[in-house]
Amino acid sequence: MIKIERTSKIPKSLEEKRTYNDYDVVMQLKHDFHDKCYICGIKPVQDPEIEHLLPHKNGKFPERMFDWNNLFWSCRHCNSIKNQQKYDENVLDCCQRDPEILIDFTLNGDTVFVQAKDETDIEAVVTAELVNEVFNKTNTGMRVHKCQVRVDELLKEMNALLDTLEKYKTNEHSIIVQRTLKGLLDRKSPFAEFKRNYVKSHQNRYPELIDYIN
Ligand SMILES: [Zn+2]
Repeated sequence: MIKIERTSKIPKSLEEKRTYNDYDVVMQLKHDFHDKCYICGIKPVQDPEIEHLLPHKNGKFPERMFDWNNLFWSCRHCNSIKNQQKYDENVLDCCQRDPEILIDFTLNGDTVFVQAKDETDIEAVVTAELVNEVFNKTNTGMRVHKCQVRVDELLKEMNALLDTLEKYKTNEHSIIVQRTLKGLLDRKSPFAEFKRNYVKSHQNRYPELIDYIN
């Protein structure tokens, strides 16, 4: 999960027709969220859904249904895992608060481990639990598969980062290597929060790469 700059202009159909899934809403969300699922970080999202941060409970809360600031770009897997009562509130709004400041996103071997930096910050704690679940929840066969797909994609991205960092060690002035690193560490890239966290936690080795993260 990364900080998203949501466009402030409300899509026309949402405002005028009060429908939240017309083309203009879909395209604006896809653009603002860099076509990444805001929960797991997979990109592109093959099966996008419009996720309501605060659930509308089948229209019981219509004001939430059509609130532009309550609409998020997510994959089906994450939307379905978030659809549990414990996530009805306190999932942090990544358009308001920066998840990278509040949460550690780590990959140890092939195990995803996500943890709030401050255990008293309820939003960070609940959000970290949600992100852990979308990579590790194995209560159905399909979820085992979908979690594995995400871990595999994340591993590919991390390996690309580690390979490029190796090249950087021996050839730090190469424009191609620098450009590749910039792309891999950009917020718009898949699973950016994990790759950026890796570089931040190894900044004694790569102090100058912090510029690529800010
Ligand atoms: Zn997802």
